[in-house]
Amino acid sequence: MKDVYRIAVFQGDGIGPEIMQPTVEILGQLANQNGYNLSFVDYPAGAAHFANTGEALPATSLQGAKDSDAILLSAMGLPSVRYDDGTEISPQIDLRKALNLFAGVRPVRIFPGQKTPLSLPAGREVDFVLIRESTEGLFHTQGCGEVTEEEARETLLITRKTSELLFDFAFNLARDRKEAGRGPGRVTCVDKANVFRAFAFFREIFDETAQQFPDLAREHAYVDAMALWFVQKPWDFDVLVTENMFGDILSDLGAGLMGGLGVAPSADIGLYHAVFQPCHGSAPDIAGQGIANPLAMILSAAMMLEWLGMRHDHASLTTDGVRLREAAEKVIAKGEDLTGDLGGTATTSQAAAAVTAALAAT
Ligand code: ATP
Repeated sequence: MKDVYRIAVFQGDGIGPEIMQPTVEILGQLANQNGYNLSFVDYPAGAAHFANTGEALPATSLQGAKDSDAILLSAMGLPSVRYDDGTEISPQIDLRKALNLFAGVRPVRIFPGQKTPLSLPAGREVDFVLIRESTEGLFHTQGCGEVTEEEARETLLITRKTSELLFDFAFNLARDRKEAGRGPGRVTCVDKANVFRAFAFFREIFDETAQQFPDLAREHAYVDAMALWFVQKPWDFDVLVTENMFGDILSDLGAGLMGGLGVAPSADIGLYHAVFQPCHGSAPDIAGQGIANPLAMILSAAMMLEWLGMRHDHASLTTDGVRLREAAEKVIAKGEDLTGDLGGTATTSQAAAAVTAALAAT
C-alpha cells in the first residue's frame, strides 16, 4: 500500500478541461476525507497543443504518464486540427499503443430511473462490460494505411500474445464480477469467425484461454448478431470481449443504450499502466459554455479509484470508487440535476455539485 498515488492529468481539448476540473476537485475531497493522498500532475497533449507546438504528445508527457500510478485523461481531439493526411490528433490512441493498454473496458449499466431509448421489461437491469482490444485489430495500420489513386488498404492484426492477455483479463474480470455478485461469470467472444480466418484464430485462442477458467462459462457470438442483441436483450450479457474496431462501434451503441455519451465511462488497461477517460469526444459544439456533462468523466475517475484500490490492495480507494460510481448513478436516476444532453438544464458545475451532495449522503 502506498502513501501517495501520483495521477497524471491530461486536460484535453474542447470541453476536456471543463469536465476535468470538477472531477479532480471531487477526487481531492475524497482523498482528504478518507486518509489517502492523490498527487495530480498536469501534462500537455492534444489537438490545441499540437496546433501551438507541432507536438500531439510530447515525450515528457509520455514519460510523466509512465511514471504515474494512473492516468486521468479528458476528451481529446478537435475536428479542425488534423495531421497532413487528414486524420485527427488522438494522443489517447498513441498512449494506448505506447503503454500497451490492450484492454479497453467499457461498462454498460442501465438501472431503474435511468433514461434509455429501450423499454426494459419490468425488473430488468442492464449491467455488462464490453472489453475492446485497444492496440491492434483494424487499428494496426492507423495513420499508415496504403492509399493510391486506385485503392486503399488497411491491415487487421491479431496476435496470439495480445489475445492471450486480453482473454485472460476478460475471464479474470468475469470472476471478480461473479464474486461481487454482479454477474453469472460468463465471457462472450464477439467476432466474425464465420467469414475471416483472423477471427477464427481469435476465437481459437479464446477457447484455449477459457480452459484455464473451468469455473466460468464461455460463449461465442458474431458481431452483427451482437449489435441486434444489444438492443433486444442487453440484460443477457456479463463480460463481452472483442476486436478493436468492433469494440469501437459496439461501445458507442452501448453508450446510446445508457442514454448518451455523457454518461459512458471507460478505462484502457495494460499490465503496468491504465488510462481512465470518458467515451465521448471533445464536443467542440458546446465547449466554453459550462454545460458539458461531467458524469462520464466522474464515472471514469470512479473506475480509476477502484482499479488503484485493487492493484495496491488499498481498501479505502476501492470503497471510494464504488461510492463515487453509486453517487453519480443516484444523480442520473433522480434526474433533477442533469445537463442538456440528458434532457436537463443543469450546468456542468451544478451536475458535479449534485454528485458531491450524493456522496455526502452515503
Ligand atoms: P470523437 O470522434 O472524438 O469520439 P465525436 O465525433 O464522436 O468525437 P463528440 O465530441 O463525442 O463527437 O460529440 C458528439 C455529440 O455528443 C456532440 O453533439 C456533443 O456536443 C455531444 N457530447 C459529447 N460529450 C458530451 C458531454 N460530456 N456533455 C454534453 N454533450 C456531449
